[in-house]
Amino acid sequence: MERYDVTIIGAGPAGLTAGLYCGRARLKTLILESTIPGGTLRWTERVEDYPGIEEIGGAELAERMEAQTRRFGAELRIEPVAEVLWQEDFKVIRTEKGEYEAGAVIITAGGEPRKLGVPGEEEFTGRGVSYCALCDGPLFRDRAVAVIGGGNSAVEEALFLTKYASKVTVIHRGREFRAQEILQEKLFQSPKIEVLWKAVVEEVQGEKLVEALLLKDIESGEEKRLKVSGLFVFIGFVPSQVKGMHPKHDRGGFFLTDEWRATSCPGIFAAGDIRAQPVRQITTAVADGTVAAVAAERYLEEHDLRLPA
Ligand code: NAP
Repeated sequence: MERYDVTIIGAGPAGLTAGLYCGRARLKTLILESTIPGGTLRWTERVEDYPGIEEIGGAELAERMEAQTRRFGAELRIEPVAEVLWQEDFKVIRTEKGEYEAGAVIITAGGEPRKLGVPGEEEFTGRGVSYCALCDGPLFRDRAVAVIGGGNSAVEEALFLTKYASKVTVIHRGREFRAQEILQEKLFQSPKIEVLWKAVVEEVQGEKLVEALLLKDIESGEEKRLKVSGLFVFIGFVPSQVKGMHPKHDRGGFFLTDEWRATSCPGIFAAGDIRAQPVRQITTAVADGTVAAVAAERYLEEHDLRLPA
């Protein structure tokens, strides 16, 4: 079984940054990613809040991060992790292709989009229901679409969808958005966007493709049908599950860590969106990855687990 100093699970901004710092510390580092490096950044059209870079496409920033991380020696493989088996000085990461041993593990596996859980959602996924505006937005040119949610993702993605859709109706269960003010200002200025407050989707309706949503006004209980060809759901995400290990987590399943990003399982660290934290930005993911990498190096030194150079 191949042994590494550090194995990082997930190659979003947190994982790539952890890989960069581990590589620079000359640790033998393996990053395992289940799909494409970059995480949700890869599906973000534009990033304009990363200090030092005024504006950049999410995919380009992800590619730059990956190249930089590889340059410092971290190895990156596309292999979904099936299980992590761990004891104090021994961690085995089992993937679909093989097994790797590591002195320390950094989990940066992010999460999956949260589902609405209403009738029709699953049935019409890929046939009008989407969780990625960048991937599917161009399919809705000159059509009416709806966006569900009131956070940064919903507002940002609704703005992106105005490039294609004839009309974007944002449906939010609350009376105010959680999204950053600057995003909200842009949204309220867009002539293509209408907001329905205090409303929820009860059902996604259609024949072969989405044709309408059955909505309910939370206050009056009144129901109405909204004709749309697409439904984009951005209501947060649920953290990824990592089989074989059960670190302490909060009620939402997000891993609890200390200031060193150490979980309750010794030698296992967590960084980025999978970690319980109040702010989720690229900058916070990058900071998490940095701290977790330094912590993993300290852990290896303290436990005499570092591989010989
Ligand atoms: P979020 O901030 O957790 O917001 C989720 C939204 O969905 C909330 O408005 C919530 O309503 C609503 N919601 C949750 N469950 C719902 C349900 N079952 N039915 C209807 N509505 C529901 O999620 P997010 O926007 O996906 O963002 C996730 C994290 O990434 C956040 O920390 C966010 O700041 C960050 N992010 C940042 C950026 C950026 O800075 N550019 C971009 C994307 C994401 P309530 O408000 O009523 O609870």
